[in-house]
Amino acid sequence: MFKIVPIKAFSDNYIWTIIQGNEAIVVDPGDPKPVIKKLNELNLSLKQIMVTHHHFDHSGGILELQKAFNCPAYGPKGGHIKGITNPLNDNEHFNVFDQYFMAMASPGHTNDQLAYFCESEPNPILFSGDTLFAAGCGRLFEGTPAEMHNTLSRFSALPLNTLVYCGHEYTESNLNFAIEVEPNNVDIKNRLTEVKSLRDQNKVTLPSTIELELKTNPFMRCDEENVIQAAIAYNATTDNSPEEVLGTIRNWKDNF
Ligand SMILES: [Zn+2]
Repeated sequence: MFKIVPIKAFSDNYIWTIIQGNEAIVVDPGDPKPVIKKLNELNLSLKQIMVTHHHFDHSGGILELQKAFNCPAYGPKGGHIKGITNPLNDNEHFNVFDQYFMAMASPGHTNDQLAYFCESEPNPILFSGDTLFAAGCGRLFEGTPAEMHNTLSRFSALPLNTLVYCGHEYTESNLNFAIEVEPNNVDIKNRLTEVKSLRDQNKVTLPSTIELELKTNPFMRCDEENVIQAAIAYNATTDNSPEEVLGTIRNWKDNF
Protein backbone atom coordinates (compact mmCIF):
# COMPACT_ATOMS: atom_id res chain seq x y z
CA MET A 1 0.00 0.00 0.00
CA PHE A 2 1.17 3.52 -0.77
CA LYS A 3 1.53 6.53 1.51
CA ILE A 4 0.54 10.11 0.72
CA VAL A 5 2.66 13.14 1.62
CA PRO A 6 2.29 16.83 0.74
CA ILE A 7 4.85 18.90 -1.15
CA LYS A 8 4.32 22.61 -0.50
CA ALA A 9 4.28 24.90 -3.53
CA PHE A 10 3.70 28.63 -4.11
CA SER A 11 2.16 30.26 -1.04
CA ASP A 12 -0.47 27.71 -0.06
CA ASN A 13 -0.70 24.89 -2.65
CA TYR A 14 -0.19 21.24 -1.79
CA ILE A 15 1.15 18.86 -4.42
CA TRP A 16 -0.02 15.52 -2.99
CA THR A 17 2.55 12.82 -3.59
CA ILE A 18 1.67 9.12 -3.52
CA ILE A 19 4.69 7.01 -2.72
CA GLN A 20 5.16 3.26 -3.05
CA GLY A 21 8.59 1.66 -2.95
CA ASN A 22 10.95 3.91 -4.89
CA GLU A 23 8.24 5.39 -7.14
CA ALA A 24 6.01 8.43 -6.78
CA ILE A 25 2.86 9.79 -8.40
CA VAL A 26 2.06 13.50 -8.00
CA VAL A 27 -1.31 15.22 -8.02
CA ASP A 28 -1.48 18.78 -9.40
CA PRO A 29 2.22 19.67 -9.85
CA GLY A 30 1.84 23.40 -10.47
CA ASP A 31 5.53 23.99 -9.83
CA PRO A 32 8.06 21.33 -10.92
CA LYS A 33 10.92 22.62 -8.74
CA PRO A 34 9.77 21.47 -5.26
CA VAL A 35 8.66 18.15 -6.79
CA ILE A 36 12.08 17.43 -8.32
CA LYS A 37 13.77 18.51 -5.09
CA LYS A 38 11.61 16.17 -2.96
CA LEU A 39 11.99 13.23 -5.39
CA ASN A 40 15.77 13.66 -5.34
CA GLU A 41 15.80 13.92 -1.55
CA LEU A 42 13.84 10.67 -1.18
CA ASN A 43 15.54 8.99 -4.14
CA LEU A 44 12.24 8.42 -5.96
CA SER A 45 11.38 8.30 -9.65
CA LEU A 46 8.17 9.83 -10.97
CA LYS A 47 5.81 7.20 -12.39
CA GLN A 48 2.72 9.24 -13.20
CA ILE A 49 1.06 12.66 -12.92
CA MET A 50 -2.60 13.37 -12.08
CA VAL A 51 -4.16 16.78 -12.68
CA THR A 52 -7.53 18.04 -11.43
CA HIS A 53 -8.00 21.17 -13.56
CA HIS A 54 -6.36 23.61 -15.92
CA HIS A 55 -5.33 26.38 -13.49
CA PHE A 56 -1.63 27.03 -13.76
CA ASP A 57 -0.91 26.48 -10.06
CA HIS A 58 -2.13 22.88 -10.57
CA SER A 59 -0.91 22.04 -14.08
CA GLY A 60 2.08 24.32 -14.74
CA GLY A 61 4.76 21.72 -13.93
CA ILE A 62 3.56 18.86 -16.15
CA LEU A 63 5.83 19.43 -19.17
CA GLU A 64 9.00 20.00 -17.19
CA LEU A 65 8.40 16.88 -15.08
CA GLN A 66 7.72 14.85 -18.24
CA LYS A 67 11.00 16.12 -19.68
CA ALA A 68 12.81 14.80 -16.62
CA PHE A 69 10.85 11.57 -16.08
CA ASN A 70 9.03 10.78 -19.36
CA CYS A 71 5.85 9.84 -17.46
CA PRO A 72 2.16 9.84 -18.44
CA ALA A 73 -0.22 12.53 -17.18
CA TYR A 74 -3.88 11.77 -16.40
CA GLY A 75 -6.39 14.60 -16.34
CA PRO A 76 -9.30 16.47 -17.92
CA LYS A 77 -10.03 15.80 -21.58
CA GLY A 78 -10.31 18.56 -24.18
CA GLY A 79 -6.68 19.08 -25.10
CA HIS A 80 -6.46 22.44 -23.32
CA ILE A 81 -3.91 21.20 -20.75
CA LYS A 82 -0.54 20.60 -22.38
CA GLY A 83 1.06 17.27 -21.51
CA ILE A 84 -2.09 15.27 -20.69
CA THR A 85 -1.49 11.85 -22.24
CA ASN A 86 -4.47 10.05 -20.66
CA PRO A 87 -7.63 12.20 -20.81
CA LEU A 88 -10.34 10.90 -18.50
CA ASN A 89 -14.14 10.78 -18.63
CA ASP A 90 -16.48 10.98 -15.67
CA ASN A 91 -16.51 7.64 -13.78
CA GLU A 92 -13.51 6.31 -15.70
CA HIS A 93 -11.19 4.03 -13.73
CA PHE A 94 -7.42 3.90 -13.92
CA ASN A 95 -4.56 2.42 -11.96
CA VAL A 96 -2.56 4.22 -9.30
CA PHE A 97 0.04 1.66 -8.30
CA ASP A 98 -2.04 -1.43 -7.40
CA GLN A 99 -5.25 0.50 -6.64
CA TYR A 100 -8.13 1.62 -8.86
CA PHE A 101 -8.94 5.32 -8.86
CA MET A 102 -12.09 6.77 -10.40
CA ALA A 103 -12.29 10.18 -12.09
CA MET A 104 -15.34 12.16 -10.94
CA ALA A 105 -16.43 15.15 -13.04
CA SER A 106 -16.77 17.93 -10.48
CA PRO A 107 -17.66 21.23 -12.17
CA GLY A 108 -18.16 24.39 -10.16
CA HIS A 109 -14.73 25.99 -9.69
CA THR A 110 -13.85 25.22 -13.33
CA ASN A 111 -15.82 23.32 -15.98
CA ASP A 112 -13.04 20.79 -16.57
CA GLN A 113 -12.47 19.85 -12.92
CA LEU A 114 -12.01 16.20 -12.03
CA ALA A 115 -11.73 14.71 -8.56
CA TYR A 116 -10.09 11.35 -7.96
CA PHE A 117 -11.64 8.74 -5.68
CA CYS A 118 -10.20 5.43 -4.50
CA GLU A 119 -12.05 2.87 -2.41
CA SER A 120 -8.93 1.89 -0.52
CA GLU A 121 -8.90 0.23 2.92
CA PRO A 122 -9.16 1.19 5.72
CA ASN A 123 -9.98 4.70 4.45
CA PRO A 124 -11.15 5.62 0.96
CA ILE A 125 -9.32 8.59 -0.57
CA LEU A 126 -10.55 11.67 -2.44
CA PHE A 127 -8.31 14.17 -4.19
CA SER A 128 -10.74 17.06 -4.50
CA GLY A 129 -8.57 19.69 -6.24
CA ASP A 130 -10.09 23.16 -5.83
CA THR A 131 -13.69 21.99 -5.55
CA LEU A 132 -14.11 20.77 -1.99
CA PHE A 133 -11.75 22.44 0.48
CA ALA A 134 -11.51 21.71 4.19
CA ALA A 135 -14.48 23.71 5.56
CA GLY A 136 -15.01 25.48 2.24
CA CYS A 137 -15.32 25.22 -1.54
CA GLY A 138 -13.56 26.76 -4.53
CA ARG A 139 -14.59 30.07 -6.05
CA LEU A 140 -17.10 29.77 -8.89
CA PHE A 141 -14.81 30.94 -11.70
CA GLU A 142 -16.54 28.99 -14.48
CA GLY A 143 -19.39 27.02 -12.95
CA THR A 144 -22.74 27.87 -11.38
CA PRO A 145 -23.93 27.47 -7.77
CA ALA A 146 -26.14 24.58 -8.96
CA GLU A 147 -23.14 22.79 -10.47
CA MET A 148 -21.08 23.25 -7.30
CA HIS A 149 -24.02 22.02 -5.22
CA ASN A 150 -24.37 18.91 -7.41
CA THR A 151 -20.64 18.23 -7.15
CA LEU A 152 -20.59 18.63 -3.36
CA SER A 153 -23.72 16.45 -3.07
CA ARG A 154 -21.88 13.73 -4.95
CA PHE A 155 -19.00 13.99 -2.46
CA SER A 156 -21.51 13.95 0.45
CA ALA A 157 -22.59 10.48 -0.65
CA LEU A 158 -19.04 9.05 -0.39
CA PRO A 159 -18.17 6.94 2.68
CA LEU A 160 -17.94 9.10 5.83
CA ASN A 161 -14.40 7.94 6.55
CA THR A 162 -13.11 9.05 3.12
CA LEU A 163 -9.90 11.08 3.54
CA VAL A 164 -10.16 14.37 1.65
CA TYR A 165 -6.96 15.80 0.16
CA CYS A 166 -7.59 19.23 -1.34
CA GLY A 167 -5.34 21.58 -3.27
CA HIS A 168 -4.74 24.44 -0.83
CA GLU A 169 -4.14 25.23 2.84
CA TYR A 170 -7.27 27.36 3.32
CA THR A 171 -8.71 25.59 6.35
CA GLU A 172 -8.29 28.29 8.99
CA SER A 173 -9.73 31.13 6.91
CA ASN A 174 -12.56 28.84 5.77
CA LEU A 175 -13.42 28.02 9.39
CA ASN A 176 -13.32 31.71 10.31
CA PHE A 177 -16.03 32.17 7.70
CA ALA A 178 -17.93 29.00 8.70
CA ILE A 179 -18.29 30.27 12.28
CA GLU A 180 -19.78 33.52 10.92
CA VAL A 181 -22.42 31.48 9.12
CA GLU A 182 -23.10 29.17 12.08
CA PRO A 183 -21.94 30.90 15.30
CA ASN A 184 -23.41 28.16 17.51
CA ASN A 185 -21.98 25.14 15.68
CA VAL A 186 -19.83 23.36 18.28
CA ASP A 187 -18.11 21.16 15.69
CA ILE A 188 -16.91 24.26 13.82
CA LYS A 189 -15.71 25.86 17.09
CA ASN A 190 -13.77 22.75 18.06
CA ARG A 191 -12.27 22.35 14.61
CA LEU A 192 -11.22 25.99 14.53
CA THR A 193 -9.39 25.59 17.86
CA GLU A 194 -7.58 22.49 16.57
CA VAL A 195 -6.70 24.06 13.22
CA LYS A 196 -5.41 27.30 14.81
CA SER A 197 -3.09 25.24 16.98
CA LEU A 198 -1.83 23.27 13.94
CA ARG A 199 -1.24 26.47 11.95
CA ASP A 200 0.58 28.09 14.88
CA GLN A 201 3.04 25.20 14.52
CA ASN A 202 3.06 25.60 10.71
CA LYS A 203 1.53 22.10 10.36
CA VAL A 204 -0.69 20.80 7.54
CA THR A 205 -4.41 20.69 8.45
CA LEU A 206 -5.21 17.94 5.94
CA PRO A 207 -6.49 15.43 5.09
CA SER A 208 -10.04 16.09 6.21
CA THR A 209 -12.85 13.52 6.09
CA ILE A 210 -16.29 13.60 4.49
CA GLU A 211 -17.76 13.17 7.99
CA LEU A 212 -15.99 16.27 9.29
CA GLU A 213 -16.98 18.28 6.20
CA LEU A 214 -20.64 17.34 6.63
CA LYS A 215 -20.45 18.74 10.19
CA THR A 216 -18.35 21.88 9.62
CA ASN A 217 -18.44 22.95 5.96
CA PRO A 218 -21.25 25.46 5.28
CA PHE A 219 -21.15 24.64 1.54
CA MET A 220 -21.92 20.98 2.36
CA ARG A 221 -24.70 22.10 4.73
CA CYS A 222 -26.91 24.18 2.42
CA ASP A 223 -30.02 22.22 3.44
CA GLU A 224 -29.44 22.82 7.18
CA GLU A 225 -31.91 25.28 8.72
CA ASN A 226 -29.17 27.36 10.40
CA VAL A 227 -27.30 27.80 7.12
CA ILE A 228 -30.50 28.62 5.20
CA GLN A 229 -31.45 31.26 7.79
CA ALA A 230 -27.94 32.78 7.74
CA ALA A 231 -28.07 33.01 3.93
CA ILE A 232 -31.47 34.71 4.05
CA ALA A 233 -30.21 37.13 6.72
CA TYR A 234 -27.25 37.99 4.45
CA ASN A 235 -29.42 38.37 1.33
CA ALA A 236 -33.17 38.57 1.89
CA THR A 237 -33.96 37.54 -1.71
CA THR A 238 -32.44 34.05 -1.18
CA ASP A 239 -34.98 31.24 -1.37
CA ASN A 240 -34.36 28.08 0.62
CA SER A 241 -33.22 25.86 -2.28
CA PRO A 242 -29.73 24.48 -1.54
CA GLU A 243 -28.40 25.87 -4.87
CA GLU A 244 -29.48 29.40 -3.96
CA VAL A 245 -28.20 29.08 -0.41
CA LEU A 246 -24.84 27.93 -1.78
CA GLY A 247 -24.75 30.84 -4.25
CA THR A 248 -25.52 33.33 -1.48
CA ILE A 249 -22.93 32.05 0.99
CA ARG A 250 -20.31 31.76 -1.81
CA ASN A 251 -20.95 35.40 -2.65
CA TRP A 252 -20.77 36.25 1.09
CA LYS A 253 -17.45 34.42 1.38
CA ASP A 254 -16.08 36.22 -1.71
CA ASN A 255 -16.68 39.50 0.14
CA PHE A 256 -15.69 38.27 3.62
ZN1 LIG B 1 -8.12 26.39 -9.33
